[in-house]
Amino acid sequence: MTKAIRIHAHGGPEVMQWEDVPTPEPGAGEALVQHAAVGLNYIDVYFRTGLYKAPSMPMTIGMEGAGTVTAIGPGVTEVAVGDRVAYAGAIGSYATERVLPAEKLVKLPAGIDFKTGAAMMLQGMTAQYLVRRTHTVKPGETIVVHAAAGGVGLILCQWAKHIGATVIGVVSSEAKAELARAHGAAHVVIGYEKLVAEVKRLTGGTGVPVVYDSIGKDTFTTSLDCLAPLGLMASYGNASGPVPPVDIGILAAKGSLYLTRPTLATYTAKRADLLATANDLFDVVQKGAVKIEVNQTFALKDAGAAHTALEARKTTGSTVLLP
Ligand code: NDP
Repeated sequence: MTKAIRIHAHGGPEVMQWEDVPTPEPGAGEALVQHAAVGLNYIDVYFRTGLYKAPSMPMTIGMEGAGTVTAIGPGVTEVAVGDRVAYAGAIGSYATERVLPAEKLVKLPAGIDFKTGAAMMLQGMTAQYLVRRTHTVKPGETIVVHAAAGGVGLILCQWAKHIGATVIGVVSSEAKAELARAHGAAHVVIGYEKLVAEVKRLTGGTGVPVVYDSIGKDTFTTSLDCLAPLGLMASYGNASGPVPPVDIGILAAKGSLYLTRPTLATYTAKRADLLATANDLFDVVQKGAVKIEVNQTFALKDAGAAHTALEARKTTGSTVLLP
């Protein structure tokens, strides 16, 4: 037997139960991974509440982990028994061990420990595609990053600064502002109510070419109002709830704007893209341009407390759950 956090119905953190489950066996193309650390992400909250529907019930939630391959099924070529690996985007990670498609696994470089690996794959690869592909951030650009002291946020701030961009971060408290500044945000606005005026002031009235918005419902219009003509609204999350249906005429009225709702799943669907994205992330982490801040750890069995903290905006940087 092994242990997992499972839900039998959608709801609050209390629906997460620490249960015995049979030790899974890898089938064709699959690997069994013994987790050393599991990543906590906002998407886990969406699967718990039912904003994103569970594929079946009961369900082990969680999308990210790091550990050691302990068995492989027939036909697996990507990894071998004993490899140190990490992954993001395969539901079922809140478990001491789990089976998943081997093509989702990436070998962890020797210099990156399991905690960092579990903390960085989902948030870090998201930051990668946002600054490299959704919009190619260029030296000298000024950009807006919401939840700048959060998991994705702290990585985005550091990466954009490394490229040579000026980051305007948005956070909810002075302590978070300090953290965002320490990780590369040149300007930090506390409370998005003041954001449009600050962006206009800091850009001489022009606005910015891209806004990275992970907040969703509460900030949608504010973010559009920060954009220069032809700017890109990258609405990549719903921490405050999903954005209601939009009248696309608003994009014309506000300056022929572009709007995208990207997901990591699309950007890493092909194995070649997954490896390129992960390698780019490993590169900036290994050369110290991006530091992965694991600011909270919880025992995996206490995942409910971790969700409560995340939803109450009490976490900063990344959080890992330890089996
Ligand atoms: P964070 O660490 O960023 O935590 C969420 C933060 O959002 C909070 O700390 C808070 O920061 C801010 N926030 C603003 N309004 C609310 C609200 N009403 N309730 C809760 N939080 C709020 O989480 P992650 O780094 O794990 O994820 C960040 C976002 O990125 C999420 O929306 C997630 O869904 C999205 N995401 C999207 C991906 C994609 O590919 N599309 C992949 C990975 C993440 P503050 O207090 O400073 O406002």
